[in-house]
This record gives sequence, C-alpha cells and structure tokens, in this order.
Amino acid sequence: MYCNYCGRQIQDDAVVCAYCARPVGATVPRRHLYRPVEGRKIGGVALGMAVYFGEDVMLVRLIWVLALLLTLPIAFILYIIAWIIIPEEPLRLPVATSTISSPSPQS
Ligand SMILES: [Zn+2]
Repeated sequence: MYCNYCGRQIQDDAVVCAYCARPVGATVPRRHLYRPVEGRKIGGVALGMAVYFGEDVMLVRLIWVLALLLTLPIAFILYIIAWIIIPEEPLRLPVATSTISSPSPQS
C-alpha cells in the first residue's frame, strides 16, 4: 500500500502513514439500518431511514406519505416489508451504576 499524501510505500494494514503521519486507509464506521425504538410513529421505518441517510425525519415521513397516496398498495406493501426486514434497534441498556452499597456499620 502507498500513502496517498507522500507516496511512500507503507504497511498494508497501516492506519497512519509512518512517514507523514497522516491517516491512511479509510476507516469508515459501518452504519446499520435500524428501526429506532424511541421517536417512532408507526413502525420506525421512516425514522430509521432518516437516521441512516442523515435526512430530516419529517422529510422521509412526507415522502412515505406521498408515496402511500400516489402508489397506495405498492408503498404500503414496501413499508410492511421494510418493517419486517429492518431489525429493531438493539436496546441500549443504561450504564450500570454502583448499586452495591458499602456495608453499613453495624451499631
Ligand atoms: Zn505519507
């Protein structure tokens, strides 16, 4: 692998160029399409798509409503399929705080 900035050969699995110290090798965080639990109106399909594509949720919902009105059976079936296919967002459990209290002094 070659650095895109200085052109020198670097390790294939390098994250930072050893010569110019610039980040190489795109480390794109994988995005997943989920149906968020909070803030959903029906199935969370529009909200999940809005989060995934970085769009305003109202815009996505408006597109879904327009699609429903214009192509009534098709958009409805697509929504149901998306509802089934797109997994629900995994629950984010609250970070456990210390629930074990120190033993109270016996008096
Ligand atoms: Zn470099």
